[in-house]
Amino acid sequence: MARTVYGETLATCDAWGQVALGSVSLSETDEPNVVGLCTNMHAPCPHMAADSNDLIVLRPEGLYCPAGDFHIDPWKPVPRAVITHGHGDHARTGMGRYWATRDSLPILQWRLGEQDYDIRHYGEAFRIGDARLSLHSAGHVLGSAQVRVEVDGQVWVASGDYKRQADPTCAPFEVVRCDTFITEATFGLPVYRWPDTREVAREIVAWRRQCAERGEAAILYCYALGKAQRLLAELRDLDDQPALLHGAIQVGVEVYRKAGIAMLDTQPVAETAKGSDYAGQLVLAPPSAAGSPWIRRFRKAQQGFASGWMRVRGNRRRRNYDRGFVVSDHADWPDLLRTVRDTGASRVIATHGNTDAIIRAMNEAGIAAEAFRTDYGGEE
Ligand SMILES: [Zn+2]
Repeated sequence: MARTVYGETLATCDAWGQVALGSVSLSETDEPNVVGLCTNMHAPCPHMAADSNDLIVLRPEGLYCPAGDFHIDPWKPVPRAVITHGHGDHARTGMGRYWATRDSLPILQWRLGEQDYDIRHYGEAFRIGDARLSLHSAGHVLGSAQVRVEVDGQVWVASGDYKRQADPTCAPFEVVRCDTFITEATFGLPVYRWPDTREVAREIVAWRRQCAERGEAAILYCYALGKAQRLLAELRDLDDQPALLHGAIQVGVEVYRKAGIAMLDTQPVAETAKGSDYAGQLVLAPPSAAGSPWIRRFRKAQQGFASGWMRVRGNRRRRNYDRGFVVSDHADWPDLLRTVRDTGASRVIATHGNTDAIIRAMNEAGIAAEAFRTDYGGEE
C-alpha cells in the first residue's frame, strides 16, 4: 500500500495497518496528526511528529531526544551522541561530541581513535539541553551502559545491548526503574536460553584436550570485543596452557588487560615459530577468519564458534562448525521478559532483533509495546 506523507512514499509500509484508528485520519496527502501509535517503526518514519511528548523518538540518523537535542548510538553523523558501548553498530565515527562511560573510553579510543569525548562515571547525573541523564551498567561488555533520560519527571531508559548473566570482565547489569524502556531483542525468541557460562567454559577445555589427543588445533571463533575477553577470563582458572590469538583478537585483549581485567595467558599466533605444531592449542580468532588464508597454517584443526546463535543447531550446521558453544553477551528470552518486569515500565519499545515475539509477549502481559527499526545488530 502506498501512502504519501511529508513527501515520502512508504511503498510497502505495513505499519499503517497497525495504526490505532479512531485518533488518526490519513489519506494520500494528509499529514498524520497522531504520534506514537504505530507498532512498527519505519525510517524515515512520519509517525513520531515533533509535538510528541516522547522523550526519545526515532529519526533517520538514530534514536533522538528532542529535549536534549542529542542522539543515542546514532548510525549517521550528528553533533551530539551518547554512546552505550564500543561495538561497531553502536559506536561510529563522524559525531561532533561523544558522551560515554569512563570504562568504555579505552575501547572507544581503540575503535574510533581520538574524538571529543565527554566521559562520565556510572550513576553520575549530568545535563544535555533540558534533559537530565545518567549512565548505568548494561553488563554487556566493558563500559557498556544503559542511558537514563529524565525530563519533567518522566523517565525513559535506552538499554543499548545488555545481559543479566555474570561476566567477570564487566560490571553487572543495573536495574533502572523507568516509565518507558527501550530494549534490545537480539535473541527475542523463547528458544534462546543460555546455559551457565562456567559450564560452557569447562566444555571448551574438554574440547581442547580432545583435540590434543587427535593432534588437532582447537580454533574457536568469537567476537573480538567482549566475547573473546569473557572466554579468556572464564578459562583463567580452568585451563593450564595459554591461548593463541589472531591479531584482531590480540588488540582487544590488550585493551582489557590494561584496564585490569584478569584473563588466561595469551600469545599472538604471529609470534609462534614458522611450521609450529598447533596440536592441542586453543586458538581464538574472529568469525571473519573462517575460510581465510590465515587459517591454513593450522593443518589439522577443529573449528568451533562461541555465540548465542549456537543455541540453534541448524546455525552451526549451515556454517560448518565442528562445535558450537552457547555463550552470549545479550539477554536470553527469559531475561528479556524479567528485565522489562524489573524496570516497572508501562511501555516498551523493542529495537533490533526478534521484536515481534517480544511485542506479543508484552501485549499479553498488559504492557504497551512497539518497535523502533534501527541499524543495530551487527556483532552477533
Ligand atoms: Zn553490542
